[in-house]
Amino acid sequence: MRKTFQIAIDGPVAAGKGTVSRLLAQRLGFLYVDTGAMYRATALLALRHEIDLNDEDKVVALLEKSKLEMRNPLPPKELDGRLTTVILDGEDVSWAIRTQKCGIGASKVAVLSKLRKTLVKKQQEIASTQDVVMEGRDITFRVLPDADLKIFLTANLQARAARRHTQYLTKGMNITIEAVTSEIKERDTRDMQRKIDPLRIVPDAWVLDTSELKIEEVVDLIADKVQKIRNRNTNE
Ligand code: C5P
Repeated sequence: MRKTFQIAIDGPVAAGKGTVSRLLAQRLGFLYVDTGAMYRATALLALRHEIDLNDEDKVVALLEKSKLEMRNPLPPKELDGRLTTVILDGEDVSWAIRTQKCGIGASKVAVLSKLRKTLVKKQQEIASTQDVVMEGRDITFRVLPDADLKIFLTANLQARAARRHTQYLTKGMNITIEAVTSEIKERDTRDMQRKIDPLRIVPDAWVLDTSELKIEEVVDLIADKVQKIRNRNTNE
């Protein structure tokens, strides 16, 4: 029988999945797994090696030759605002993968079925050994279909564009809100229309709209739900 506690969170671009998952994991003492970072790191690899992002075999071969490690940020050096630390072949790429180019590249390589299989397997291995808050686009139905709690975290387009715009400005990127809105729309469309595992809401997911909520309120709501599930599990 499975012994780990699994919280699976899916949702569209910039719905707040990363921040909410990180804080929730911290509060519960779970590992936070940002699966989008794995697709972003793959895109970074392919871009650096000038490999066509549609060339499935080459992209997968490149990833398999590389070493991708992820961990909670270590103090003091890694506590610089990042949500997770990503090490690619020994290099800290936690910030390098956060560019707009890597985000768009990630949604391109994410349509490759062999790549998805490889990454899903890695994600399932992680969740089988420790309690996790895992977020992405296919966690509730592909990676962890038996998760203890499944959430579809969303927000309206305006709220999501405003949040992502602020994140880019904080990083010193000069970009308009219109450009951010069109990036979000482009990535959402690709994520929801791809043939393999398109982003969708599963029937047993809790749909949580964060447009009008503060991050802490969202974390409180989820933590309460987790407590209820744990109480129910111990009473069974
Ligand atoms: O979450 P983030 O925006 O960093 O993810 C980058 C891209 O990676 C997404 O737009 C999506 O195309 C892809 N992705 C995915 N499946 C996941 C996580 C991310 O297809 N589980």
